[in-house]
Amino acid sequence: MTTYFVFVDGLGAGRRDPERNPCLHTPGRLFASFDEEGTPARDDEVPLGGTYVPLDATLGVEGTPQSATGQTALFTGVNAAKLLGFHLWAMPNRQLREVLARDSIHRQLVERGRVTRFVNAFRPPPEPLPEDLWTDPRYVRLISASVWANRAAGNPVLSVPELLDDRAVSFDLTGQAFRDRGFDVPLRTPARAGEVLARAGRGLDLAMFEYFQTDRAGHREQLPGCAKVLADLEEFVLGLLHAIDPSRDTVLLTSDHGNIEDAPSRGHTLNPAQTYLWGRGSQRIAARLRDLTDVTPALVEAMGEEP
Ligand SMILES: [Zn+2]
Repeated sequence: MTTYFVFVDGLGAGRRDPERNPCLHTPGRLFASFDEEGTPARDDEVPLGGTYVPLDATLGVEGTPQSATGQTALFTGVNAAKLLGFHLWAMPNRQLREVLARDSIHRQLVERGRVTRFVNAFRPPPEPLPEDLWTDPRYVRLISASVWANRAAGNPVLSVPELLDDRAVSFDLTGQAFRDRGFDVPLRTPARAGEVLARAGRGLDLAMFEYFQTDRAGHREQLPGCAKVLADLEEFVLGLLHAIDPSRDTVLLTSDHGNIEDAPSRGHTLNPAQTYLWGRGSQRIAARLRDLTDVTPALVEAMGEEP
């Protein structure tokens, strides 16, 4: 039994406006969930029997939700924005790194005898390596909440060898980003990358994957570019869903804040984070979710109930 935690950066539920919202333009309409006048809505059923829940990303703190605080909240259950008193963008600061080290979902599960892994493959860091990558200020400011959360459990950082034998997935799904830098890794379709994620998770209790092309596109691209990134993500998620056993496995897909669902705005939004569940226990977990801080406790509790 594996829980797959697919974290998608910058995917909110926006308005049903085909001129602005790329979620209306993917072939399977997987992300066609909306928030209009505060009313969560979907036009279609969630594909493959999934459940949709909008998550409040504002965390009760004024201002626009940002990545460091939102992701720390998602990966620990701690209201990181309230702790700092503001929404912190990009990478976690020292205070948030301490929260991640103490309360990370990986650490909580490993302390309960579970096996977890962050299955994104990273390019090997440039040589010569600093004496301690994890304390060198030049590197520390480049390390994301997901990496700190994984490290809190003593888990390794995965790279090219794991990518080559289907134990990891490239952050761009296809592996093109590795090939562009001269690494001889297979080029995968997004659907194939989804199957690889399913395989990488076998034998683990929790497999976490992070996709941040959505947030990049939301900041940089217009509607067609945003729709392409979402179509790739949709193909990837469907590939994963077809490769798991929904009677044994759970898939949770969520986000830290809105962005891509309003393509012309180029910034984060106040919209709720789109969140989906499939498979084992999904109704029960969904019923517990209101805001970003609910994800980690809901998953830890659900996994604690399993034999
Ligand atoms: Zn973000």
